[in-house]
Order: sequence, then structure tokens, then C-alpha cells
Amino acid sequence: MQSQGSSAPRCIQIHPRDNVAIVVNDGGLPAGSVFPDGLVLTTRVPQGHKVALTDLPEGAPILRYNVVIGHASRPIARGTWVEESMVRIPPACGLDSLPACTEAASAGAPLEGHTFMGYRNADGSVGTRNVLAISTSVQCVSGVVEHAVARIKRDLLPRFPSVDDVVGLEHTFGCGIAIETEDADIPVRTLRHISRNPNFGGQVMLVSLGCEKLQPGRLFPDGSVPGCSGAPGTVILQDEAHVGFESMVASIVRMAEPRLAALDARRREPCPASDLVVGVQCGGSDAFSGVTANPAVGFASDLLVRAGATVMFSENTEVRDGIAQLTARAATPEVAQALIREMAWYDAYLARGGADRSANTSPGNKMGGLTNIVEKAMGSIVKSGSSPINGVVPPGARPREKGLLFAATPASDFICGTLQLAAGMNMHVFTTGRGTPYGLAAVPVIKVATRSDLARRWHDLMDLNAGTIATGEATIEAVGWELFHLLLEVASGRRTWSEHWRLHNALALFNPAPVT
Ligand code: CA
Repeated sequence: MQSQGSSAPRCIQIHPRDNVAIVVNDGGLPAGSVFPDGLVLTTRVPQGHKVALTDLPEGAPILRYNVVIGHASRPIARGTWVEESMVRIPPACGLDSLPACTEAASAGAPLEGHTFMGYRNADGSVGTRNVLAISTSVQCVSGVVEHAVARIKRDLLPRFPSVDDVVGLEHTFGCGIAIETEDADIPVRTLRHISRNPNFGGQVMLVSLGCEKLQPGRLFPDGSVPGCSGAPGTVILQDEAHVGFESMVASIVRMAEPRLAALDARRREPCPASDLVVGVQCGGSDAFSGVTANPAVGFASDLLVRAGATVMFSENTEVRDGIAQLTARAATPEVAQALIREMAWYDAYLARGGADRSANTSPGNKMGGLTNIVEKAMGSIVKSGSSPINGVVPPGARPREKGLLFAATPASDFICGTLQLAAGMNMHVFTTGRGTPYGLAAVPVIKVATRSDLARRWHDLMDLNAGTIATGEATIEAVGWELFHLLLEVASGRRTWSEHWRLHNALALFNPAPVT
């Protein structure tokens, strides 16, 4: 419920130096609306869109978050809707002579005493769910695996009540990929590392076709999976022992049974918050993302880091315009260099396709008030809070450090989520302004709405409403603490809405390698 005063014209200026503010009111505001400080709208301004706070001559810098998000393409009068066509995007900043470690201040005193009930694994990681995952080496086996998963759920799962789910790790990687290229290692190591996700309890099994480029020995080079108990069980569909479809399904079901029994013996035990590995990302962003949900996530991220946990933020194109902020917050010069290396690699990757970071923004972002990628990036990057950046995780890799990490991934929700799964996340936080029913089968996803209107309409999809920050009913700090406590509860077993409805998006591998 919005407070009674929320129908009065309200806008939010993020930084005192900003010369634009965004309109808060549901449905936007008509021309003639008067704000408490006397500002009068000369045009209609939709919700989340920008209004000029001063007269802006042609070429004037347009400031939001105290950052130049563009230059006026024509004179803009005070009180006018600053539309996309009025803003010229600045070029991306160079990657030479960036600041390094100039602002690597601590996020605050250690936060003690916060725990959750998790599943401790042999390799020291901690699961938040108890899931049997069936890895696959090639797309060709997907149909058979899907069939086997249904059979396992029907015939076996009822006997193992402590196991939450059975998941086929299906994907579109196939023999078309030029597997000897350096870039092909990204999807391969992603699949290898996903099988080690803490929620799978070290019980790895693999379904292979037999003739694929990604042979089992290439997926798991030592014949074993680091940190997992024993060699992964492998079912090869082309094995001569298989006569007919039913025998393939029976082999998979047979291999699943002892693994389900091992998972069923897992018990939750008290674990410190430092065992959380939280992946944060946003999708379907709007102008409120950077005002409400993402700052609240940033506050919670600082709390998690203070509690000793690991937090990964991602989305290369949504941090590219804020790279100087990140290198300044790097804990060491090596981390600053790694950030620059990932940005340079991604710039080159986009350039190969004739694109740059400006290709990121969607029609929905723009309808939601985000004019361009610079503005979107400033709102996205605040999810990282204010902690020093302790490490950089290349796409598909596993982190070595704890604390705040940059996991270099595309901004695509599904690819980012898949890469964060590979990096070992055991909790996922996802903010959205336009609204997306995103969910993952392997790890719980807490969805945070940027606007009260979305939270009201999608009351059984959104887990937390940060829109109350825009209306002044709540503070960033209060919502940040709420998210922190919700993370501990969900990590302990409380179900999210996407788990309730079983909304599971498919894995999406990042494959920058050529396809033959
Ligand atoms: Ca995203």
C-alpha cells in the first residue's frame, strides 16, 4: 500500500549536482504538475523518466548519479521531459590510465553471529538446497535425460524425502563448436564447474552420447571432479550394452539411485553467513532499479561482505561505463588489472560483431526511463555496494577469493545466472523493474521489485518490494537489512515464489567460440 501522500508530485534527484530527476508517481505526471520545491512540468513526464531541473543549452552535460550520462542534443527547458532523442551518448572511457586501488576502503566492521541452516559439503562449500543434478556432455542426449528425470521423480524421489529435486543440466552445446579454440574453454569449464555447485552435494553423474567432441574425459580431465566424492558415474547412450530406448533410461535411473540415497542422508546444520556465495544481477531494469532495488542490494552486499560471505556482481556491459569506479575500489593492483583485462576482452568480443556496450539496452529499459547504457550502468553497478573488490572471476571459472568479487559475464539474465552457478553461488538475488518471472532449478532466486506497482501486480512472483524506497515509506538501509535476513531464511529452506511455482529458466552457456 502506498501512503496517502504518494499521489503528490514526487521526483528523485540522486546527487545534488544532478541536473535531472526521475518522476516517481505511478502513471507519470501531466504538464502543469507542481513539485514541492516549485518546479513546474512543461510537458507530460512518464513514471521513471527524467525531468530537467535547470535550463540545459545544446551540448550541455546531463548529469545523473553525478555522472555525465550524455549531452543535450538540443536546448532543453527546465521542467521538460528529457526524452531519449534529446540525449547524445558519450563514448566509452578508455582503459588506459584508470585509477587503481584509490578507494579500496573497508565496508565496515565485521558482522558476527548471523547463521543459516545449510548442507555442509566435503569440499568445504555449503548447499542451500539438496538437488540431484545430471550433467550432460552434448545436446543430443537431452530428450533421453528429460525422460529419465521424469521417471526418477516418479519412481524414486518419493523414497528420498530429504532430496528437493532432480535436475537435468541440459544445454545447447554440441559438436558444431570449434572445440580446439581458446574461447571454447569457456562453455566447457562452465559445464565442468556447474556440476560442482554446492547444492548438488558432490554427487556427480554424467550422461554422454559417445561420439561427441566433448568426451567425458575432456569434461572431467582427471576422471574425477575436484571436491566431489569418487569418480562421476557416466552413462554412455551409444554403449553396446544399450538395446533400445528403455535400456538407456533404465541405466540413468539405476545410476541415480545410490546418489539419491547419499543426498538423502544430508542434514541441514547451522552455518555462518560467511558460507553464503551470493550472485546478484538485474534484469528488465527501469529507472527505479538504480534508485530502489539495486542500492538495497548494494547495502545487503556490504552486510554480507562484513559477515565474511562472498558476493558476486556481474554484467560486463553494465559496468563498462563505471569501470573507473571499479578499478578505484580494487583491493590490489592485480585485481584492477584483471578488471581491465575482462573489459578489454569484452570490448573486442563485441567489436567482432560490430557492436559495443550501447547494444545492451532493451525497448523495455527505455520505456522504463533508462535513456542509454551509461544511465543503466550507473544504476546497475550500485548492486556491488561499497566494499573493496577482492577478485575477478573469468567467465566459467571458480573464484579463489571471498568477499566482493566481479564475475565477468554478459548481462543476459540466463547466461549471467548460468556463469554464476558455475562460479559456485548458493543464493541468487535478482532485481527487476519491468518484471520478469525468472527462476533457476539449481539455486533459489530472490526477486526484488524496484516499484510498488510491480510488487502489487506480481504479488505472487516478487519476493521483496524495494519500491517503498521511492515513495519514502522505507529507507535503503531498512530494505537492505530485510534482504539480508531474507537471504538467511531462504538459504535455510524457506521457498521463494519461483520455487513455489517451479519457474525454471534453462541454462544458457556463454559460447564465444565459432560454430562450424
Ligand atoms: Ca541481467
